[in-house]
Amino acid sequence: MNVDALIIGGGLCGITTAHRLAKRGCSVVLVEASEDIGTGANYANGAMLVPSQTAPWNSPGILATLLRSLVTQNPTVRIKPKAIPTLLKWGLYFLKNSKPHLHELHRRQLLELALFSMDVFEDYYKGYADQFDAKKCGTIKIYRDQSSLEAQIRSNRHLSEVGLDWEVLTPDQTVEAEPHLQALAPQLAGGIRFSADVVADSRKFCQLLRDDLVASGQKIHVNCQANELLMSGDRVIGARTTIGDIRAKNTILALGANTRKLAPKDARSILMRPVKGYSVTYDTTGVNDLPSYPIIDEGMHVGIVPINGKLRAVGIAEFAGHDDTLSPKITRQLDRLTKSVYPNLAQTIDCCKREPWTGFRPMSADGLPYIGATSSKGLWVNTGHGHLGWTLATGSAELLADLILDKPTALDASTYAVTRSH
Ligand SMILES: Cc1cc2nc3c(=O)[nH]c(=O)nc-3n(C[C@H](O)[C@H](O)[C@H](O)COP(=O)(O)OP(=O)(O)OC[C@H]3O[C@@H](n4cnc5c(N)ncnc54)[C@H](O)[C@@H]3O)c2cc1C
Repeated sequence: MNVDALIIGGGLCGITTAHRLAKRGCSVVLVEASEDIGTGANYANGAMLVPSQTAPWNSPGILATLLRSLVTQNPTVRIKPKAIPTLLKWGLYFLKNSKPHLHELHRRQLLELALFSMDVFEDYYKGYADQFDAKKCGTIKIYRDQSSLEAQIRSNRHLSEVGLDWEVLTPDQTVEAEPHLQALAPQLAGGIRFSADVVADSRKFCQLLRDDLVASGQKIHVNCQANELLMSGDRVIGARTTIGDIRAKNTILALGANTRKLAPKDARSILMRPVKGYSVTYDTTGVNDLPSYPIIDEGMHVGIVPINGKLRAVGIAEFAGHDDTLSPKITRQLDRLTKSVYPNLAQTIDCCKREPWTGFRPMSADGLPYIGATSSKGLWVNTGHGHLGWTLATGSAELLADLILDKPTALDASTYAVTRSH
């Protein structure tokens, strides 16, 4: 078989790439190591598409935050000592890119990609919103101190410049918008509502695209791991997988946090590390009065999102290498954070079935994803979307499809090139 494209990895980046290529008439094969599509970093993620939140995590005060986390009890940023040696080179570039002008530049570049993604996403929203619980409800960010609220207001200027709506809310208006925050009102400095943000179930979205691809005759192999790339001279011509060799004109690496493991030497310039995150989904079936807005508590670094008739708390950044152990201590920390935002819902939540989960954000050192060609002919990547993979998935896939098909791109693709300097 010699198909147009072999996509390795069936997370958000892989399945959207396959779908955008198939829509253009390409034949695609996608291989996924686990038992289904969409079981990686997106499985129980924050479910928010947030063009309003495109700041890379290495903001100008990041070093102080990291140092503080070493001495704080129950920090939301954690570093496992055994992971430190793997972080040295990446960490230097991560800190270098926290300089204010670089951080601002990357935030704007991510916003550009997020806006493009929201355009591409609109097609899916129009056709299938109810099949993946998508809602254009916006998000509300809450602030417990005046100075952080004011800092956010100052930094929202770039959103206004591109026409994204945001609105400052007094504590009373915040509670009026989301009455479940009533008990928190005395502690609130205020909130900001970002009306362009969307909530949607990324796992169901992956499954929707999977079914559409299969229905149109494309091939998806689950429980199929790619173990090495097949070369012909300096050209990548497919991959050796657990079900045999698959040959393709183009091979796309979309293995999330594992991408570097399969990349040939030249593509290892990809500076990316896994940053482990956690969520706890409370099965609130039968509770008829749930919050209607996703709430992001800036100071506590937690998001609490109503999704699918359930409530999901999401947060924590842990540098633990590829160790995917689900720490009960950390999931209990998320329970406490949920209670600190919704003290009145706490009793209901206490009685709910809860599903804890952990996943790896594939985090680049400069905060930008890697989308495009590698220096091996026929080999492409779509990875490194960190905490914004759902927000950026559809636009990244469209951009890569344009590059592969040698079409003009809607954005300057060199920004996200594998070969960019960090
Ligand atoms: C806790 C948490 C909350 C988040 N919340 C949000 C949010 O609210 N909004 C947002 O925009 N983003 C969010 N994200 C980020 C987003 O979920 C990720 O950026 C995105 O899912 C990454 O997708 P991916 O396809 O690159 O990686 P993955 O989803 O990890 O996909 C990679 C796939 O490759 C497969 N694979 C690996 N090795 C092989 C191999 N050798 N052969 C075959 N297959 C292989 C894996 O099994 C996996 O399925 C969150 C992430 C986390 C962890």
